This record gives sequence, structure tokens and C-alpha cells, in this order.
Amino acid sequence: MTLTLTTIPKEKLKNPPLKIHTLGDRDLRQPAKRVSKITDEIRQLAVDMLKTMYSCDGIGLAAPQVGIGKQMIVIDIHPDQPEAAPLVMINPEIKSTGGPQVNGEEGCLSVPSVFMDVVRPDEVVVTYRDLEGKPQKLATSGLLARVILHEVDHLQGVVFVDRVKNQSALNQELSKRGFKMKDVHPLPA
Ligand SMILES: [Zn+2]
Repeated sequence: MTLTLTTIPKEKLKNPPLKIHTLGDRDLRQPAKRVSKITDEIRQLAVDMLKTMYSCDGIGLAAPQVGIGKQMIVIDIHPDQPEAAPLVMINPEIKSTGGPQVNGEEGCLSVPSVFMDVVRPDEVVVTYRDLEGKPQKLATSGLLARVILHEVDHLQGVVFVDRVKNQSALNQELSKRGFKMKDVHPLPA
């Protein structure tokens, strides 16, 4: 099966193919396993993850968020541009980060309607395999770097709320949306 990612319509489906797990679900906290072979099944998972992401107005989704413990993420920071190809990264590895530490508002399809500031490095270099199994390397900054770091966190069982500094604001936002502070696992600064 060859796959042209640009042919996946960026539309909201009434019934997205995959169900997104939310904060408090154990699947979000398991470290994901490396993908040893890129099969048609993996390619189909990428398509289903993208369709699910577009359906939920997301710009990134990691396999553990749909209950699949594999090192795979999909990203599209231009969901309004039909011709812009999404990114699929298999076995992504952050090789380096750089630039200033920047504050930016983040949300997550696994913590719907909660938006909080998170500090992350502005620049990232990531290696990964694409859907053909070719090794790739990407150096980027700004929003795309932030989304990559957010999604790679998911592969280690880390959710962005774990990185929020303002605990009282986080507590307030989470309880408004029916989430619990006990499901946040704060990271050492
Ligand atoms: Zn997320």
C-alpha cells in the first residue's frame, strides 16, 4: 500500500475511526514501544489517527492517546490548508533542543477544553522514520517544535499538564472540566 497523506481530507467526521482516551486513563501513562516494522497496519493506523485528529480539531495526536502503545505521532499545524501535507513520525527521537525557553499556551485532545501555559525550548532537532520506513531528520522551531515536544512527551507517558507551573490555576481549570489533580504527575523542574 502506498499512501499519499495529502489525499486525506481535513474534515470533521461524525464518527471518527478512533476513540481518544482522556486524563485519568492508564493508557496515557504507559511508555510506548518502538515500531519494529512499518506494515500496512501501521500505515492504516496513521490514516485513522489523522482522520481522528482532524475530526477533533487537533494539530497533533500520539498513538497512546488512542490506546495504542506504539511510538508514533501525527501532526498538522495547518489544518485549514487542504494542500499542506501532515507529518507522520514513527519512532521519533529528540536529538537536541535549543533557543530560548518560551512560554506558550497548550491544549490536548486528551484533556479537552483545558488550555494552560507551558515552558518549552523554542528549537528542536528530531529524527524519525516516515511511513515508507525512510530515516528522516527535522530541525524546526516555534509552534511545530512545541507540538513535536508535546507529542513525544505522550510516548513517554507524559501529559502537558504535568509541565504546568501554576498549580492553582491548573487545579481550577481541571475541576471546571471534570478532571482531577490526582491524575497530574508533576515533573521535576
Ligand atoms: Zn496531547
